[in-house]
Amino acid sequence: MRLNDPEACRVFDVQRFSIHDGPGIRTTVFLEGCPLRCGWCQNPEAFGHSHAKPMPTAAILAEVLKDEDYYTLSGGGLTVSGGEPLLHLAPVRALLEDAKRRGLHTCVQTSGIVPQTHLAGVLGFVDLFQFDLKHMDSQRHRQLTGAGTERIHANAAWLLRQGAAVQFRMPLLPGLNDDAENIDATAQFLNKHGAPALCLVPYHRLYVDKYRAMGLEPGVQGLEPPSDALLAQVRRQLEQHGVVVTVEG
Ligand code: SF4
Repeated sequence: MRLNDPEACRVFDVQRFSIHDGPGIRTTVFLEGCPLRCGWCQNPEAFGHSHAKPMPTAAILAEVLKDEDYYTLSGGGLTVSGGEPLLHLAPVRALLEDAKRRGLHTCVQTSGIVPQTHLAGVLGFVDLFQFDLKHMDSQRHRQLTGAGTERIHANAAWLLRQGAAVQFRMPLLPGLNDDAENIDATAQFLNKHGAPALCLVPYHRLYVDKYRAMGLEPGVQGLEPPSDALLAQVRRQLEQHGVVVTVEG
């Protein structure tokens, strides 16, 4: 397959009946490739160790359409995830465009670290962007993921200026991004851009066995899921800034 083959995506998983990847019941298509290396990444397949198969966009859509009735009943649809799905502009654009032609609700999960032209390329075919904010401080973000925040924040602001529907999400990682300074900075960022809502995604360890099965080790070791008390504390702090908080899971 060519690197950006407009006819096929490198798919490492297709999850039917997803309920955490956008509204309603959805099919989530996971694509290989990511410019970041988050130490808590739940999808090491995205790093290119999984021998993901090139899958024609028509075949992906045929798989997704198997559950069309459930989407209609639940307000669900197609979610494209990764990895960073917007690395692959041409095939992802084709997939999203075809999905919209078939009347599906479309959601893209992004780290935001892509050229703005890639966001612009899919903008007309995406009903909802789920956009990660992992840490507000650029240097700390670089330590945690391998890249700073400049492009990510510029892309978030650009999407909002275009009137795109954006749901910001933050993985809550005890000891890594849950300090008061970062929570305040996150709330200030959301308020500054007129988008005062955040979905907290509590860290979990279910993915560790997947790493071991692949002969890999997660980048961060010994991280524990947030306690209920921490979750409540972070939630309270965000709400004090007027941010509407939801918690995934
Ligand atoms: S951006 Fe997402 S897919 Fe990429 S390394 Fe980070 S958590 Fe994994």
